[in-house]
Amino acid sequence: MNAPVFRFAPSPNGRLHLGHAASALLNDALARGIGGRLLLRIEDIDPVRSRPELIQGLREDLAWLGLRFAPPERRQSEHLDAYRYQVSALAERGLAYPCFCSRGAIAAVVEADAGRGAPVPRDPDGAPLYPGTCRALSESVADRRRAAGEPHTWRLDTALAASPGPHVVRTFAVAAGEGRGAVRQIGIERDEAADPARWGDPVIARRDVPTSYHLAVVMDDAVQGITHVVRGEDLRASTDLHVLLQALIGAPSPRYHHHALLRDASGEKLAKSRGSRSLADLRASGESPAGIRARLGFA
Ligand code: GLU
Repeated sequence: MNAPVFRFAPSPNGRLHLGHAASALLNDALARGIGGRLLLRIEDIDPVRSRPELIQGLREDLAWLGLRFAPPERRQSEHLDAYRYQVSALAERGLAYPCFCSRGAIAAVVEADAGRGAPVPRDPDGAPLYPGTCRALSESVADRRRAAGEPHTWRLDTALAASPGPHVVRTFAVAAGEGRGAVRQIGIERDEAADPARWGDPVIARRDVPTSYHLAVVMDDAVQGITHVVRGEDLRASTDLHVLLQALIGAPSPRYHHHALLRDASGEKLAKSRGSRSLADLRASGESPAGIRARLGFA
């Protein structure tokens, strides 16, 4: 078997908080526990929210915590051509189509279809489930609208792409080792059925960026040879789509562990937008890396 490879893949759109630290430390403990490598990937496809000082900030925070990553570091913004190429390859195969609908127009159609007062079907992120409007456009109409410069995303035709199934998420549990609390091991492995259809026809390339989170993460995990993905349970539903994309582009499927999220006193997950204190703040107020590790159970 190839040597195990883990990754920590933050998006530089805010400073890292304790939840990021816990996820990075768990990846590190598991990689060490089974003799694997840990890579860093900067998920900076968002040209507005990703800022260079935040990239530098997260590198500093992770180094301060004592985390060391095996080279090379990967930055998604340096690979936009590769994502663009994959989207056009999927379109060539008839598995992706351009979509000219705005978010507002989609919400209006979905609400009207549901009927007054009825619950609106939603994808796992809570967005109204795209009803497939532009899937019905003829190629010549779509080509003409694109040639005229009309803004558009690209969507995966999930019904076409999902056959033949079934698709499976290969998961593993995490077991605390004997002795010191810092030791973590790979626990029971289990296959779970994936349901990519719950995403409808998801966006694989945004209007302003030639990829989406889903496509970039799948391509990068393949390029970086990731064997074990350890990330928050808020991304579990995304994995159903990721295994489908892996099957489509001929990428191996890593094993997955989705860990519980750290929550604040009111039960909300930590987030910069909710004022969770950043690692930089904690450091400035005199916390030590050892203190943070101990607090998160990695002493
Ligand atoms: N960049 C994502 C985030 O910061 C994580 C993606 C992943 O681990 O697959 O939430």
